[in-house]
Amino acid sequence: MKDWIYLDNAATTKLDSRVLEEMLPYMEDLYGNPSFLHGLGKQAHNAIQIARKQIADSINATSEEIYFTSGGTESDNWALRSAVEGYAQDKGMHIITSSVEHHAVLRTLRYLEDFGFEVTYLPVDETGLISIEDLEKAIRPDTVLISIMFANNEIGTIEPIQQIGNIAHRHNILFHTDAVQAFGNVLIDVNKMHIDFLSASAHKFYGPKGVGFLYARKGINLFPMIYGGDQESKMRAGTENVPGIVGIGKAAELAYRNRLDNIIKTERLRDYLIEEVLKEIPDSKCNGSRHKRLPGNANFSFVGVDGETLMQLLDMQGIYVSSGAACNSDSIEPSHVLKAIGLSDEMARSSIRISLGNDSTKREIDATIKGLKRCVETLRKFSEIYK
Ligand SMILES: *Cc1c(COP(=O)(O)O)cnc(C)c1O
Repeated sequence: MKDWIYLDNAATTKLDSRVLEEMLPYMEDLYGNPSFLHGLGKQAHNAIQIARKQIADSINATSEEIYFTSGGTESDNWALRSAVEGYAQDKGMHIITSSVEHHAVLRTLRYLEDFGFEVTYLPVDETGLISIEDLEKAIRPDTVLISIMFANNEIGTIEPIQQIGNIAHRHNILFHTDAVQAFGNVLIDVNKMHIDFLSASAHKFYGPKGVGFLYARKGINLFPMIYGGDQESKMRAGTENVPGIVGIGKAAELAYRNRLDNIIKTERLRDYLIEEVLKEIPDSKCNGSRHKRLPGNANFSFVGVDGETLMQLLDMQGIYVSSGAACNSDSIEPSHVLKAIGLSDEMARSSIRISLGNDSTKREIDATIKGLKRCVETLRKFSEIYK
């Protein structure tokens, strides 16, 4: 029996034992290099093709549109840089994104700004949603790319991807979406949604760390991420991470096959958590959207409580949650996402994210509600602001 409660699944998930089982042979006996087509090499090569098909099937793409990467960050970097390198000359140097993107997108765009690209950062409403009207108004003749995340990693808000895709398509603008949080939790159809680039990462859906994929629509002028050998259609050279790729393929297959059950079960538990916390703890607030929300995401602010301290108190009781965004945890700046939905610095700093996984249980949630209530009461006793 594990003696902790893990509720930080938006930061990373546990490797599914069925995924590990598929990977292990490729770390031991099946160590061939997929580029060398003798027996062992061929087995590795075939394993990669199977994984590519598993990924493609899960988003209604074809195998040739899937490129393996080291994770979500690389896929985001690649999509954005590829779009501008391939199309800026014809289309122009204007990019539209949102103010709540992951740093993998925001910092790549900052880099591009240094090269003369102009970026419009769409605001979001108090639930974290962009406005379709704002998007349409932001479009210019020189807009080359729209990059809007599928679902937010901090507050779980699911953006209107279908509508955004329609608009991008109608204006002949490339559309990238960071689907790292969405994959496995939301139905994704790259054709129906007119998505040109999509990023995902295995460790967010019960696969191994250090492997992800980029979907790039067929016919798109992709630029190489890494130069070298012929791997990944010469677009990302270097000997493949075979066990990782086998793992992401299996994880995608499992996520796709079980998604409806997982979504329903997790959503139910999450709604219970949110309702109980708001009922049991006075002066608490749930951040984000009530319904357009990832199944496992809950994000709260507690008046007069420091989120970082609250996280540490829970940690001491073996309850693992995150304060703000994981990527921000060593900076004292309040999260850009919570600021974008209009929270004061004060309220942004008093927030924690609780992210449930497919294996979260009612018992764990009950224990968490109890622990949370006790910790918030304790901290408020010592709070100068909370009276
Ligand atoms: C985790 C995450 C990333 C980064 O993925 P890595 O695989 O850790 O590089 C990018 N975008 C979002 C929305 C994420 O949640």
